[in-house]
Amino acid sequence: CNGNSKDTESFVKIPPLKFSKLFINGKFVDSVSGKTFETIDPRTGEAVARVSEGDKEDVDLAVKAARQAFDHGPWPRMSGSERGSIMMKFADLIEQNIEEIAALDTITAGKLFSHCKFIEVPVAARILRYYAGAADKIHGTVLKLAKGIQGHTLKEPIGVVGSIIPWNFPTLMFFTKAAPALAAGCTVVVKPAEQTPLSALYYAHLAHLAGIPEGVLNVVNGFGETAGAAISSHMDVDKVSFTGSTEVGRKIMAAAAASNLKPVSLELGGKSPLIIFEDADIDEAVNIAFNGIFYNKGEVCVASSRVYVQEGIYEKFEKKLVEKANAWIVGDPFDPQVNQGPQIDKKQFEKILSYIEHGKREGATLLTGGKPIGNKGFYIQPTIFSDVNEDMTIAKEEIFGPVMSLMKFKTMEEAIKRANNTAYGLAAGVITKNLNVANTVSRSIRAGFIWINCYCRFDLDCPYGGYKTSGFGRDFGLEALNQYVQIKSVITPIHDSPW
Ligand code: ADP
Repeated sequence: CNGNSKDTESFVKIPPLKFSKLFINGKFVDSVSGKTFETIDPRTGEAVARVSEGDKEDVDLAVKAARQAFDHGPWPRMSGSERGSIMMKFADLIEQNIEEIAALDTITAGKLFSHCKFIEVPVAARILRYYAGAADKIHGTVLKLAKGIQGHTLKEPIGVVGSIIPWNFPTLMFFTKAAPALAAGCTVVVKPAEQTPLSALYYAHLAHLAGIPEGVLNVVNGFGETAGAAISSHMDVDKVSFTGSTEVGRKIMAAAAASNLKPVSLELGGKSPLIIFEDADIDEAVNIAFNGIFYNKGEVCVASSRVYVQEGIYEKFEKKLVEKANAWIVGDPFDPQVNQGPQIDKKQFEKILSYIEHGKREGATLLTGGKPIGNKGFYIQPTIFSDVNEDMTIAKEEIFGPVMSLMKFKTMEEAIKRANNTAYGLAAGVITKNLNVANTVSRSIRAGFIWINCYCRFDLDCPYGGYKTSGFGRDFGLEALNQYVQIKSVITPIHDSPW
């Protein structure tokens, strides 16, 4: 682990900042209050930008523009294929600017630049194309009803969508919500996380260049309790799509219920189990478990934060995990050699360190890591606790950082029972050569996503969402379109018909 080694400029040229205002009704505008706030670089803890701070008045303006665009504008009225071709153009523009956008996500979220450049930003273009292709295939059904009546259903866009997104995947989350909503013919107000507004503003600019009409896609930077809360309680927002913590999800649902009873979809926290059986290839299992939690510095909703290892291979597994942790490089996320960048911000950094102290106090064995790195920025060593049990805080609560809890089990039945002993139900994994065991575990775990002999593998066509307090509603796949449409039944009598 090396902290900040070289000068970032030796890896990449960070472009000057182009967009820092709010994007409302097709234009970049200052906030009504004129206030701005700092964007912090987690590598240093210092400000790299100031952006306009949106509040209730700005959300009102953005929702007004989105309402107008929905009620009177061309977007919901044009054919699906016309919307699709504009979205395709939007995707092309993203691909022409990958490096610049990737640098914005790295500098604000501390994510590996290579990940942003080769995976997350290119995937944004693919998400747009996936839903662009679906835009002209959203249709209802013809119903042959009782004698003398004919019916059909229409799938109509739900209206003005509020999208409140987190900071761990700023680009992916933006398009996970916006792309299916746009394809369905909705208009959207996005509130990016306060830590990561920069790529969202860049996307607003590209959407405009691609020909998305004014008012259709708006971006209001700001804080959760002000701008976010204004969206969830707004009387003219028809749906809220949220990804973030369970705690905030509850607030959003309460605000939606107390205002206009808008439907919400909530993709929330997790404490996902990964169960490794004795027959597994041990090196492969170590790799899967390690990347399952330390990928993106543990800031992943589906992170495999609880790893259950069958007793026969437990000690060997521990040893190999520690070797891997020792070879893992923490440092500047622009450095191509680095595996793990800094945590998102000071608050999260301190929270993770306090969970580590809890783990030690509650009697778990600290196998490796546990300490911050360097004296600037928010770097933490990859940390592995052994001898953890489900009563410990580190096994119950979502840490959202590079901390693995390792646990020993004897039988499949025991592993299933303990894996399900959580308030969450986002994801789980099982590693075994025994197909019967894999299928039994995958049917028995109450979670929305199960990986067999892999972890964190995704495909755009695969619906994604939680059980229990991990939320409800599904992102990705054609399933996600259902979040952004209303189904209307239409009936007409057929007079004098024998049928
Ligand atoms: P995390 O724990 O990952 O930071 P949060 O759930 O705190 O996630 O934040 C996710 C998003 O929710 C951010 O855009 C944040 O600004 C927003 N948010 C936070 N509090 C509220 C709130 N009370 N109402 C609406 N949105 C909120």
